[in-house]
Amino acid sequence: MAKKRLAILGATGSIGTQALDIVAAHPSLFRAEILSAHANADLLLQQVAQHQPNAVVVTQEQAYEKVKKALSNSDTKVFYGQDALNDVVTWDSVDFVLAGIVGYAGLHSTLSAIRARKPIGLANKETLVVAGSIVMEEARCHGVPIIPVDSEHSAIFQCLMGEEMSSIEKVILTASGGPFLGKKPNFLVNVKKSHALQHPNWTMGAKISIDSATLMNKGLEMIEAKWLFGLTDEQIEVVIHPQSIIHSLVQFTDGSLKAQLGLPDMKLPIQYAMTFPKRVANEFPRFSFKEYSKLTFEQPDVKTFRNLQLAMDAMHKGGNAPCVLNAANEIVVEAFINNKVGFLQMSDLIEQAILNVHFIENPSLEELVETDKETRIYTQKELAKLDY
Ligand code: NDP
Ligand code: MG
Repeated sequence: MAKKRLAILGATGSIGTQALDIVAAHPSLFRAEILSAHANADLLLQQVAQHQPNAVVVTQEQAYEKVKKALSNSDTKVFYGQDALNDVVTWDSVDFVLAGIVGYAGLHSTLSAIRARKPIGLANKETLVVAGSIVMEEARCHGVPIIPVDSEHSAIFQCLMGEEMSSIEKVILTASGGPFLGKKPNFLVNVKKSHALQHPNWTMGAKISIDSATLMNKGLEMIEAKWLFGLTDEQIEVVIHPQSIIHSLVQFTDGSLKAQLGLPDMKLPIQYAMTFPKRVANEFPRFSFKEYSKLTFEQPDVKTFRNLQLAMDAMHKGGNAPCVLNAANEIVVEAFINNKVGFLQMSDLIEQAILNVHFIENPSLEELVETDKETRIYTQKELAKLDY
């Protein structure tokens, strides 16, 4: 089998570094052809030394200067910026694009790769939250498979192998509940980022860790599932499952339920996306029933964790509402990480943005780009007025 040549976007992140571990473990299957980073020049340089990619793209100027200087005598080409990112993913030497950039920043490179008919391993859920209808339509027109990396969606994707989409009654996304499961507003009002970043089961980037603590992550994943699997809003449910062993379930029209299980380890869905449709043997730790005497389930508390309700409302509202939700969320999460907003205030600001940024029922890509900008400006202004 020829080596699959990968463009790993967001190579320096949690998803990207794990993808590179898989490349290193299977040198006969994969080659890291292109890597991208934003600010972490040092880690990117280590990755270049190990993987010798054909090219790297750096999207933050200072980091770019550092990488360019360090690689001036190397065979690895160095490019700067979003346009370069959109270009390298279209190269003939790329067989597969792993979209591991965090946030809205990952949208355009993913779209560009789809238009160049590159199969996508999609970790960057925000792409589908912002522009799911457009992205899936482009993928359909270009005959491009979008293979989910997000563990819940990978689980659903695996459960759907050999099934007809018309046989789906509903999908049930599992959620760990995050570090604040069971907590009430009087506790949450005072929590800081150091608490929120301590996820009980997964080690992930900062943004998704905060999103997991607020349950926004599950809201974003409902919208992601809607577009990936062509579901109606009513076909998507969430259940809290604190052990994160069942990664999600599909219920079929005959009442049968299929689930995918495993230890909470992102390497598994990342590897599955990279090797699909094959499964490749590995040494990852295995689940054992001896270590888990109980798997438990409960309903999410959407009154306390309002972000999940806000995301569901934005999904029902449709149009550019999920794009507003996402942009406002990115701004407040960054502010929370910088100790500029309280945990509960984040939901208030997102709600305000959805109410105040003008609604477009059938937005074009350009209108979504505008919506993203407008929402960021609006939310920054409201943040500045806050008493925190
Ligand atoms: P990280 O924050 O760990 O990594 C993000 C990556 O994106 C880094 O390589 C970072 O570069 C790069 N990046 C950041 N900002 C920009 C920008 N403006 N332009 C271009 N590149 C940028 O995130 P994760 O790996 O945790 O998450 C990545 C995506 O995968 C997210 O959408 C997340 O929701 C999704 N996901 C992650 C999971 C996980 O376990 N981590 C699980 C399921 C989904 P640098 O570090 O060099 O600044
Ligand atoms: Mg997930």
